[in-house]
Amino acid sequence: MSYQHQWISGECDLPVGKVVCVGRNYAEHAKELNNPIPSTPMLFIKPATSVVGLGVPIAIPQGKGSCHHELEVSVLIGKELCNVTSDEAVDGIVGYGLGLDLTLRDVQNALKEKGHPWEVAKSFDGACPLSPFVPAVDITDPLALDLTLIRNGQVQQQGNTSEMITGIFDLIAYMSSIFTLRPGDVVMTGTPAGVGPLNRGDQLCLKLGVDREFGVSVR
Ligand code: ZN
Repeated sequence: MSYQHQWISGECDLPVGKVVCVGRNYAEHAKELNNPIPSTPMLFIKPATSVVGLGVPIAIPQGKGSCHHELEVSVLIGKELCNVTSDEAVDGIVGYGLGLDLTLRDVQNALKEKGHPWEVAKSFDGACPLSPFVPAVDITDPLALDLTLIRNGQVQQQGNTSEMITGIFDLIAYMSSIFTLRPGDVVMTGTPAGVGPLNRGDQLCLKLGVDREFGVSVR
């Protein structure tokens, strides 16, 4: 894989590390999949090999049932965070962007039924398309940031980071109590309601805030 992190303005020299994700961090999304809301954040990891950029069309695995889009605000980590407070977490964030937590939903449902881990459904090669990152200093209020996914001209997912059950800084502090976060790691912050299947030929537009848009097609 030749993916390298990108700033919206150009190259980023941080290495590509792991992606730490959270499930069910927006109540409306937990509800749409008939899942209970967890009492502590439910974490999982996508490896560096799952990360791809939006500069190339999204490749969805074939013959594995439905592949759902989960639009999420992504956070780029710029310094080592181990057991940090929420205030310290803020200092470790260097960028914000959008990512898709691609999920093989039929595979995941079968795994859930057996009580098995989710990696096969969520951590495959290409399972984490990421937009370029906006420098953190250019994001006025990360805790009140709109995110929107438009698929073939129709708004599919729309949310605001203020609706998260565990907010971005608290979430990163909690993650850092379990996994040391390193420069180049990415945190995915959960998806709002409206997840659904992707199909070959779909055109997606991912919007961060009101003024940043990233387009990508599905092949
Ligand atoms: Zn997700």
